Amino acid sequence: MLSRRIPNRVLRLISPHATPRASAFLRRCALAACIATASVSVYAAHGIDATDMDKNGAACTDFFDYANGAWRASHPIPDYMDRWSRRWESGEINKEHVRDILTEVSAKSDWKAGSPEQLSGDFYAACMDEKQVDALGIKPVQSYLDDVRAIKTRADVQAMIGKLHDVGVGVPFGVFGQQDLHDPTQIVANIVAGGLGMPDRDYYLKPEKRFVEARENYHTHVTKMFELAGAKPAAAKQAAETVFAFEKRLAEASLDNVALRDPKQQDHKTTFADLPKLAPDFAWPVYFDAAKIPHSDLNVTQPKFLAQVDTELKATPLAQWKTYLEWHVLNAAANALSKPFVDENFAFNKTLTGAKEQKPRWKRCAESTDNQLGEALGRKYVEKYFPPEAKARMQDMVKNILLAMKDTINGLAWMGDDTKKKALEKLSTFNPKIGYPDKWKDYAGVTIGRTSYWDDVVSASRWNVDDNRKQIGKPVDRGRWGMTPPTSNAYYNPLLNEIVFPAGILQPPGFDMAATDAVNYGSIGVVIGHEISHGFDDQGAQFDAQGRLNNWWTSADEEKFKAKGQCVVDQFESYFIEPGIHHNGKLVLGESIGDLAGAKLAYLAYKKSREGKPAEPTIDGFTPEQQFFIAWGQWRGDETRPEAQRTQVQGDPHPIAKYRVNGPLSNLPAFQQAFACKADAPMVRQGKDRCEVW
Ligand SMILES: [Zn+2]
Repeated sequence: MLSRRIPNRVLRLISPHATPRASAFLRRCALAACIATASVSVYAAHGIDATDMDKNGAACTDFFDYANGAWRASHPIPDYMDRWSRRWESGEINKEHVRDILTEVSAKSDWKAGSPEQLSGDFYAACMDEKQVDALGIKPVQSYLDDVRAIKTRADVQAMIGKLHDVGVGVPFGVFGQQDLHDPTQIVANIVAGGLGMPDRDYYLKPEKRFVEARENYHTHVTKMFELAGAKPAAAKQAAETVFAFEKRLAEASLDNVALRDPKQQDHKTTFADLPKLAPDFAWPVYFDAAKIPHSDLNVTQPKFLAQVDTELKATPLAQWKTYLEWHVLNAAANALSKPFVDENFAFNKTLTGAKEQKPRWKRCAESTDNQLGEALGRKYVEKYFPPEAKARMQDMVKNILLAMKDTINGLAWMGDDTKKKALEKLSTFNPKIGYPDKWKDYAGVTIGRTSYWDDVVSASRWNVDDNRKQIGKPVDRGRWGMTPPTSNAYYNPLLNEIVFPAGILQPPGFDMAATDAVNYGSIGVVIGHEISHGFDDQGAQFDAQGRLNNWWTSADEEKFKAKGQCVVDQFESYFIEPGIHHNGKLVLGESIGDLAGAKLAYLAYKKSREGKPAEPTIDGFTPEQQFFIAWGQWRGDETRPEAQRTQVQGDPHPIAKYRVNGPLSNLPAFQQAFACKADAPMVRQGKDRCEVW
């Protein structure tokens, strides 16, 4: 789920705005965990943490408050965070572990050049050398700015776009390798929309107060950045207006967040030879040759957007292009430059997150190292924090929850046999990845030293871009990972039909070797169920057992499936975060199907896993069934700042935490039985209001 994040504007392919939907179909799941090392306990398994609960609250009225109200009341959101819970706390503790590793390896300077220790240790050390970074001011990025300012022809504009793409700055569009939607055994080039400095098109176009304010803040921010780069105030203001007008035209041609969840709307296969029909004013062969990408069939995710880029290439004065490109150089580089740039970048980001202060530098440097060189750092991380017995217990849970999905599909009264057969076939090809990759990236050719953080970022960014480009035109490598091992998150990828759980999420309290099965199934088990269910949500269900975008539903069953989804859409449309702002049901449908089915599957798997064994104990007065649901409420329950909630509701396919707890559980009879809720209780949805998809 970390799609919720305001991007770090460091040169890098994965910045959601640089190449906005590079991973549009990777369902990231805002999952985190950690706290202690994954050491194995020798004492009796513990249950949920009863001191976190608001015992004055009523489970059947507002379970979110009941499960974790006391913890939230006594743990205000730290100034540097936009939300807080045990889960986010554990994610931050994870960064302390990463820091410990990086501090240890960076204390030595005689590692073999190019070894994981040398790369990650020197990268971190250079980032931590704030004095040196500050002393350089804007100098590191000067050559890029000079190149932009020297543009004299439209061919120069194109060359500059290519140069920015080489280091992962996807303006105004991006090109990256991803599996062919119709033949996922092959990697093809995708041309994707990009080039916006605000989160999405609505920020440029919608009349609501929050968007008007965002535009004012953005204008101030862009102006200040130009001033930092040396422009006089009046010229900086004018430049900001030029940037906004340019980006607004791109925004108008871009898909909105709901459309971006629909793979069919981004399925536009074309031959290389036909590319000039969409955008005749860009010299595609020159670009592809420079990037060493083969001239083969490719996918243009947003043809209308590419046509708009072409219009800009043809008609927009070069002076405006230069202003636009200069802005994006500054924007992408800000976090790797001196303090005034970092501070100004934060000043704008905090209007979207509500965070009151920046994270300490060591956290930002730990994040940056993980972002750029995560599989170098990740080797040490898994050695220390992910023992083999943790992997074995996870494998067991995944197996049991997949079996629960099989039972569920077999038992569906509404689905016909033909569709069931296909659903079961899809389930049988699921590939779980747990902890870390079998084969590590070697980062061969990356040059990392301690003399320039900027140079390190550029070198690593270039390597990551090339690493992706090199896949294009080749068969897919199924061993690759889309997240680094220390990441406190998980994902489903429909093109590979894989569910992926990095070691960083398999830490207490989400996954705790010292906890009862009830607690583990209630926290990480629901996450596992959630990721499995993504294979069968409104988006994932459009992909078949081989990962193809291919309809395997009978039309009658598809209609029923859509109606069941509509129930969830309506449920979440009714959830307000403040007066006038409610969830967009269609935007959060996939994640909400994931939570609803995920909780059901994990519960079924838990119950089945106990068959033939003695029941787990009642602890602190809570039955195992109650522990299961409380574990979900405690792990998932965030307090979130209003600014972050507004940003989340606008663009994040995940609902806010309160509704990720109360939404699915109020639909589940097993929850209502566990807490003996009365039929008219707020946590009990009944009749046509009760949603069940899987
Ligand atoms: Zn998800």
